[in-house]
Amino acid sequence: MTAQLLDSASVAQAIKEEVAAEVLEYSAKGLRPGLAAVLVGDDSASHIYVSGKVRTCEQLGLYSEKIELPASTSTDELLALVRELNARDEIDGILVQLPLPEQVDAPLVLNSVDPAKDVDGFHPVNIGKLTLNEPGVRPCTPNGIIELLKRNNIPIAGSRAVVMGRSRIVGLPIALLLLHNHATVTICHSRTKDLPAIAREADILIAAIGRMGMVDGSYIKRGAAVVDVGMNRVTTLEDLERFFGDNPKRRAAFEKNGYTLIGDVHPREAAEVAGYLTPVPGGVGPLTIAMLMKNTLTAMKMRRG
Ligand code: NDP
Repeated sequence: MTAQLLDSASVAQAIKEEVAAEVLEYSAKGLRPGLAAVLVGDDSASHIYVSGKVRTCEQLGLYSEKIELPASTSTDELLALVRELNARDEIDGILVQLPLPEQVDAPLVLNSVDPAKDVDGFHPVNIGKLTLNEPGVRPCTPNGIIELLKRNNIPIAGSRAVVMGRSRIVGLPIALLLLHNHATVTICHSRTKDLPAIAREADILIAAIGRMGMVDGSYIKRGAAVVDVGMNRVTTLEDLERFFGDNPKRRAAFEKNGYTLIGDVHPREAAEVAGYLTPVPGGVGPLTIAMLMKNTLTAMKMRRG
C-alpha cells in the first residue's frame, strides 16, 4: 500500500478563503477582526512566525498589530500591556509569542489575557470549555487536524483514535476534540506500556511526541489515517539514510542546511502501511496559521458580532 498524502495546503487555503469572505462581510458592517501579536526579544524563529501571522492577517483583510519589546522586558511591563490590549475593543485576539525571556513569568502573563481574546485557546478557561464541549476558541493545531480529517472525508465518529502525547498544546486538546467528534480515544504518553500494540488499534493515529521517526511500520494498522504533528531535525547522515534512503531532495536539503525536517513518524515505513499520511514538512504546519485567523474571526463574532 502507498499511503495517500493528506493535502493540508489546499485545506488551509480553503479555510483562509472562507475567513476572508466573512471578514469582508463583517468589515462592510464596520466590524473588522483585529489581532495583536506581542513579540519579546530577538529569537529569530519567533520573528519569522509572527511576521507570517501578521502577513496572513493583511492578506485576509484582518487588522493586525505587531508589538515588539526588548528582551529585558519585565513581567509587570507585559502584564500592563496585556491589560491595555484586553481593554481595547478593536482588538479581538491577543497572541503572546513563546518563548518569553527567562525573567518573565510566562504562565502569569498568558493567564492574564482575557479568555475572550485568547486566540491560541490555551487559557485555562478555554481548556475548560473545550473539556466540557462548550462553545469557545479551540487550540489552532488540534482544531486544524480535525478540519483536515473532516475535509478529507475520513470518518471520526465511531473510529478508534490513538493520540500519542498528552501536552496542553497538542496531545490533550486533540484527544478531547476527537472525543467530542465521537471517536473512541486512547491517550498514550512516555509511561505507556507496549505502545506499538495500542497504536496498531487506531483507525486514526495522531503522533505528537517530538521523537524523530519513532513511529515505524510496527505502530500502524494497515489503512489507518496517520497524522504526524512532530517537527524534528535530522542532523546526521546515518539518520538521513535510515529515514529517507537515497531521496535526492532530502539529501540536497541536508547538504544545503545541515539538516532536514522529519516528524515523529518514519516516513518510508508509514507510507507502506498507512492509508493516509500527513507529510512533514507541509502537513499539519500550514493549518495552524489558517486556524489562528479563523479563531480571531470567531473571537470577534463571540464578543461583538
Ligand atoms: P511536549 O514535549 O510538550 O509533549 C510530548 C508528549 O509526548 C508528552 O506527553 C510525552 O509524554 C510524550 N512522549 C515523549 N516521548 C515519548 C515516547 N517515547 N513514547 C510515548 N510518548 C512520549 O511536545 P508538544 O506536544 O508541544 O509537541 C509535540 C511535537 O509536535 C513536537 O515535535 C513539536 O515540535 C510538534 N509541534 C508541531 C506543531 C505544528 O504546527 N506542526 C505545533 C506544536 C507542536 P509525558 O507526558 O509522559 O512526558
